[in-house]
Amino acid sequence: MVEVHLEEFQEMANLVQGAGQDVLSDPHRELRLDIEGMSYEDLLALGERIGNVNTGASEEIITSQLKTKLYTPNFLSIDLNELPPEDHESDTCIICQDEFKYRDNIGTIQCGHEFHADCISEWLRLKNECPICKLEGVTKKD
Ligand SMILES: [Zn+2]
Ligand SMILES: [Zn+2]
Repeated sequence: MVEVHLEEFQEMANLVQGAGQDVLSDPHRELRLDIEGMSYEDLLALGERIGNVNTGASEEIITSQLKTKLYTPNFLSIDLNELPPEDHESDTCIICQDEFKYRDNIGTIQCGHEFHADCISEWLRLKNECPICKLEGVTKKD
């Protein structure tokens, strides 16, 4: 159990909202920062992941380094009985929690993890780090 301190919670909410402002001004945003529906623990985790908003990568770097493709489900080409169990995980975008759908635009970062291209672009602008394995998302060049 986590003890909820109101002040701490409010501080976290402000941090998340502050971090989201840059995103909110973008009409193409897909990333949902729905703090209303989040538990204290979720909020805490999100705050930690977002951390300092200045650690994100620039639009230019993301665009040039993000590998994108259109999603086509595996079941179209392989036997369902052969489907490895761990394959399940990679078919869901951890950022928006939605499953990839046929012909969704998928973005792959350096570590090989896949997300919706829109979701990971917004994410990397906030923090240049894989939301799953915490490795660097895209390489910043000087
Ligand atoms: Zn997504
Ligand atoms: Zn990763």
